[in-house]
Amino acid sequence: MSTERVLNFGAGPSALPLSVLEEAQKGLVNFNGTGIGIAEISHRSKEFQAFLDDFEKNIRTQLGVPPTHRILFTQGGGTSQFSAVVLNLLARHRLLHPTATAEETVLDYVVTGSWSKKAAEEARRLAAGNATVRTVVDSRVYSKDGKSFDNIPPHAEFTFSDDPALIYYCENETVDGVEFSHDPQSPASFPFHLLKRDALVPLVADYSSSFMCRPIPHLADHAVIYAGAQKNIGPAGLTILIVRQDCIVDVDAAAKLGVTPVPLILSYKTLADSGSLYNTPSVLPIYMAGLVLQRMKEKGGLPYYEETNRRKAQKLYAIIHEGEQKGVFRRKVQQGSESWMNAVFEVLGEGAEKKFLEGAEKEGMKGLKGHRSVGGVRVSLYNAVTEEEVDKLIAYMTRFLGES
Ligand code: PMP
Repeated sequence: MSTERVLNFGAGPSALPLSVLEEAQKGLVNFNGTGIGIAEISHRSKEFQAFLDDFEKNIRTQLGVPPTHRILFTQGGGTSQFSAVVLNLLARHRLLHPTATAEETVLDYVVTGSWSKKAAEEARRLAAGNATVRTVVDSRVYSKDGKSFDNIPPHAEFTFSDDPALIYYCENETVDGVEFSHDPQSPASFPFHLLKRDALVPLVADYSSSFMCRPIPHLADHAVIYAGAQKNIGPAGLTILIVRQDCIVDVDAAAKLGVTPVPLILSYKTLADSGSLYNTPSVLPIYMAGLVLQRMKEKGGLPYYEETNRRKAQKLYAIIHEGEQKGVFRRKVQQGSESWMNAVFEVLGEGAEKKFLEGAEKEGMKGLKGHRSVGGVRVSLYNAVTEEEVDKLIAYMTRFLGES
C-alpha cells in the first residue's frame, strides 16, 4: 500500500490543500486549544460558534455578499436544495399571490445539463397539481446530435415567464462540462439582461461546481445560490446557501394558504432563525471548509483563484484542442460552452482511452475517468489542483500525443 499522495483530478469529493489536511489532523485531536477534538466538541460551544462566525464572515467578504442576503449552512448536498428551493419559493409565491392558480404559479427551469435536468424533475414531483414547471430552454435541442448537453443555447431563446415563482439555472453542469461563462458579453453567459426587473426576481443558481473558484457575477441579483462544499472548499456533508431576505418566508403561514407544508429542516426561515444551528450541523466539514477559506484569504482571495483557474483551464484546453487537430482527442462540449472546472474529452481509437487512463495512473494521476453516464476523460480543475499539477498532466498529454 502506497503512502504517497497522488495527483487527484477527481470530480468530487475532490482534492483539498495538503496544508489544510495537516492542520485538520491537529484539530481532530485538539481544536483551537480546547483540548477537545473538532469531531467531539459541542456545536453550541463558544469556540465552535466563534469559528462558525469567522467562516461566515470569510465567505461574505471574499464573495462580497451584500447585507440583503443571509449565508446559511445546512446538510443534504445540492440534491436537498433541488427540493428546498421549490418548497421555499412556492411558499413565498403563495404569500405574494394568495389566490394564484396552479397555472399562474410557474417555475422556470433552464436545462443545460444533467443536474439542472434532475432539479427540474424534482420540481415536477413536488409541484404536481399545485404549480406548473416550465422548461425555459433545453440545450439538447441545440446540440450536435439533438440529445446531448454540449452547448449553451443562444440568449434569444431564453423567454422567462412574467412573474415566476422561481427561475432556476445551474452555473456549471459537471457531467457534460457545460457552463455559463463569466464574461457577460459571451453568448454562454446567463442572460441577466433578459430578467424582468419590475419586482425582486426569484433567481436560483446551483453553484455546486464552481462555488469560490471565482467571483459570482450578479450575485446581488440572485434570490438563492447554493453549493455543496465537496468540490472547491471542503469535504462532503456541508451545503452552503446564500439567500436573499425576501426568500426567507414564514412557510407555515404559506401552508395555511394551501401550499405544501415545508419540512422544518428544509425551511430557510428555520435555518436563518437558528443561525444555522437548528439541529447538529456538520461540524467537521464546516471546520475543514473554514480552514480552506482562511487559506484562500491568505493567498489573495478570489482574484488569485480566478486568475489561476483561468490559466489552468486555458492551458488544458489548448492541449485538448491540439489533440483534436491531430485526431487523437475529441471534445465533448462545443467551443464557447466549455467549463472552467471540468474539461471532458474522448481519446479516439480502439483501446486508446484505456491506455491513456492507465498511463496517467502509472504516473500518479488519478480521478480522470469520465462520469459513468457520459464516459470519456474528465479533468476536474478545482481550486486545490495546483497549476504545477495541471502542467504535469499536460506534459503527459503531450507525450501521449507524440506517441499516438
Ligand atoms: N449540482 C451539481 C452542479 C453537482 O455537480 C452536484 C454533484 N456533483 C450536485 C448538484 C449534487 O450534489 P450532492 O451530491 O451534494 O447532492
